[in-house]
Amino acid sequence: MKKRLTNFFTITLCLMMMACSNPKGYYSMDYTVSFDTIGHYLLVELNYSSEQVESGDLVLNMPRWAPGYYEILDFAKHLTDFKVTDSKGNPIEWAKEGLNHWRIPRPADGQLRVSYRVYANQRDVASSRVEKEVAFVAPCGVFMHVDGEQTHPVNVRFNLPQGWQHISTGLRPQKEDSCLFSAPDFDVLYDSPFLLGNFYTKQFSHEGHDYEFALETPDGAEEIGLADDFKRIVSAATQLMGDVPYDNYCLIHMGEGGGGLEHQNSQACYTDGTYRFETRKAHVKFLAFVAHEYFHLYNVKCIRPAELWPLNYDREAITPMLWVSEGLTCYYEFRLLRNAGIATPDEALELLSTYFSLYAPYKGQHHQSLRQCSYDIWMNFMNPDENGKDVRINYYFKGPIIGLLMDIDIRRKSGHKQSLDDVMRLLYNRYYKELKRGFTEEEFWQACAEVAGQPLTEVRRLVDTTDDIPYASYLDDAGLRVDTTDWSIRQVEAPSAEQLEFLKKMNL
Ligand SMILES: [Zn+2]
Repeated sequence: MKKRLTNFFTITLCLMMMACSNPKGYYSMDYTVSFDTIGHYLLVELNYSSEQVESGDLVLNMPRWAPGYYEILDFAKHLTDFKVTDSKGNPIEWAKEGLNHWRIPRPADGQLRVSYRVYANQRDVASSRVEKEVAFVAPCGVFMHVDGEQTHPVNVRFNLPQGWQHISTGLRPQKEDSCLFSAPDFDVLYDSPFLLGNFYTKQFSHEGHDYEFALETPDGAEEIGLADDFKRIVSAATQLMGDVPYDNYCLIHMGEGGGGLEHQNSQACYTDGTYRFETRKAHVKFLAFVAHEYFHLYNVKCIRPAELWPLNYDREAITPMLWVSEGLTCYYEFRLLRNAGIATPDEALELLSTYFSLYAPYKGQHHQSLRQCSYDIWMNFMNPDENGKDVRINYYFKGPIIGLLMDIDIRRKSGHKQSLDDVMRLLYNRYYKELKRGFTEEEFWQACAEVAGQPLTEVRRLVDTTDDIPYASYLDDAGLRVDTTDWSIRQVEAPSAEQLEFLKKMNL
């Protein structure tokens, strides 16, 4: 995820799981969603139908958080008018358990109809919003799964208000009904936001995959060539990773609001309401924001710390490695835009400089390590105390700095035969594609050592401790230097042949 801080800079936040039983094939869950565009409500109906007589109560569970948004949000607080009836319309008494569970006695015929309203009037990427002409459906706060059975298939049908023309999402609609969507499990549904209503859409194919733009405020998108830049980012990422982990991808951009959130085959972002940027710097930073959410579909959706999968929507997914998921994704903003030929070397260094200058004033760098920041993020990142910057750091800032140091260290240790890119590819191919699981902290550092040919001992110490970063001992080899007057990263004056070669290898 990335949280937009100002018009010129955005930071990203980003995701986990739950041990769950095998899906039961004898019941179906069919949701219907309608819209109260005046009162800002989603009107949700669930038809639960079981072919077998089951003992015990049915327990429905609404997630407490959304993958990629590392904060307990308790979506159930937006829910009202929860009702249950049997197949004849007779009310069934239910009982609330905890904050997000509803216990319902099962009727003899296994047929239940559940209904509730969800207040939807927030402009952030983890929350739903219903307005006169458009609705954004953030699924974690709308749909409930049977407790412990989130791997069960689910269908969702939308009843669109008259005049609404589009539904854009990463899921494909059913051929017989463009308003009906089927997900193989709730993990997929929860990872598939929907934009519905009237807005700009554009469909295109690129390198064998289908893409859709859904832009709520498209002003300037055509003029700046957003689609062409996006294609170049996709191509650069494909070349870097050697694979595309989706069939289709949907880019959902909305107006003014908060941040962006990555999904397996979509991204949902709030923009500034226009693509007409006042400066080239603002334009490049926006494209870095898009590249960040896009690269997450590799780094965190596929390349993920072990604690982030399988997901448990009832509690925090605490891991000391969110700096890998978020910080290194920030580093790859810079690499993707450079590899895509979008950013010049100076613009790419300016992007990196932003992180150095944001990190430098944090007195918290002497009190909290990058590893500890990852671990504690659930408590205080989105809602810091007044002394936050004095005692804590931000992995969006120190993370990409460590990414640069890792990249340089691996390149020099391997004689330029390997780079951080090789670590990302190794993690993707070994743990995601072959072993189909996340990696542990030791496996991450082992992968780095395997690629570099020797352990990244000092870099790991800089991650695990609050030791000062010896910038020069890394940057100088790469022909770079940090100007501590403004914390900008620049090429050294009069670089040597070796430094020029290093810069060339790093595409700078
Ligand atoms: Zn992110």
